[in-house]
Amino acid sequence: MIKRNILLNPGPSTTTDSVKMAQVIPDICPREEEFVELMKKMRKDLLKIVHADEKEFTSVLFCGSGTINIDACINSLLPENKKILVINNGAYSARAVEVCQYYGLDFIDLKFKEDEMVDLEKVEKTLKENPDIALVHTTHNETGTGLLNPIREIGALVHKYGAVFTVDTTSTLAMRPIDIKADNIDFCMASAQKGLMSMTGLSFVIGNKKIIEESKNYPKRSYYCNLFLQYDCFEKTGEMHFTPPVQTVYATAQALKEYFEEGETAKWERHLRVYREIRKNALELGFKEVIKEENQAGLVETLIYPDDSNWDFKKIHDYCYERGFTIYPGKISDANTFRLCSLGAIDQDDIKEFFKVFREALDFYGVNIPIIYNN
Ligand SMILES: *Cc1c(COP(=O)(O)O)cnc(C)c1O
Repeated sequence: MIKRNILLNPGPSTTTDSVKMAQVIPDICPREEEFVELMKKMRKDLLKIVHADEKEFTSVLFCGSGTINIDACINSLLPENKKILVINNGAYSARAVEVCQYYGLDFIDLKFKEDEMVDLEKVEKTLKENPDIALVHTTHNETGTGLLNPIREIGALVHKYGAVFTVDTTSTLAMRPIDIKADNIDFCMASAQKGLMSMTGLSFVIGNKKIIEESKNYPKRSYYCNLFLQYDCFEKTGEMHFTPPVQTVYATAQALKEYFEEGETAKWERHLRVYREIRKNALELGFKEVIKEENQAGLVETLIYPDDSNWDFKKIHDYCYERGFTIYPGKISDANTFRLCSLGAIDQDDIKEFFKVFREALDFYGVNIPIIYNN
């Protein structure tokens, strides 16, 4: 029926046919009760994914890609005359820093190398020396490299110094298990097309109700993506402030059903099985990885380009793409890398098939196996 492509890029991910087909529905105005009920259930289901208690937490949906969540959290949750600390060891935290710059916020960019773990002592020192920090932001799985940050430990420090902790969980939520309370998270976020294996255009923030309500009186820095405004609209009417991505909402309702059918543990084990298959095959070919094994999130494998004059990423990409497999460039400033990810409705056998094609591509273009590096 629908051609099945294996997406090894870091989202959007491969979806099931049932999720694709769930978008095909009779036309409906999203202000109808039927649609309002659909979103109401969705907001509750999203809480369950991160084991959030309905009394304390809420979820707020936005029409947009995942970056809208970063934007909304940062522009909405910083009180007047306070500072935001971004713990930054990769492309997605760097994006959060840019959001701070665009809004003219008072921020500290606490930078670490992209292949290095966050130094908790430096985090604590920064919090101690800057008592005006009210908000701390970081990324769970740095999708640019696949590095997993110690959010539970960071969160404990953030709370020790009385600040609010927002975590970009876009590339872990609904894959790697998250427990919002135990992980010391006040706000986490994702888009429908990554862990949930749904379509693009719907994103959501899951966070502490009381903090959102307090933010009502914070400076309003955006009209379209203010967190309190969107929350308040949902609470009062059950609707998104402005037009929602209707068909993606239907697809996501189906994706949530399939998420709970597969189950948190089984789904995470599947992603991990896929990841291990990717890693095993890549290392067997002789590729070098960027992130040390103990720091890998198990979802994004970043590999260094060979020092081989026959290696041309675009050609290898095109060869695989024509055969239904999508590979993706890296996002790290000082090395040429590419990424193979374990998101989506795929399993170990898909990876075995991929590596047959990938190896064929290397042979076809005369790239040496094992992979050559000069140092
Ligand atoms: C995908 C992703 C986002 C959102 O990126 P968009 O380009 O807006 O879809 C944000 N943070 C992380 C960690 C991501 O992996």
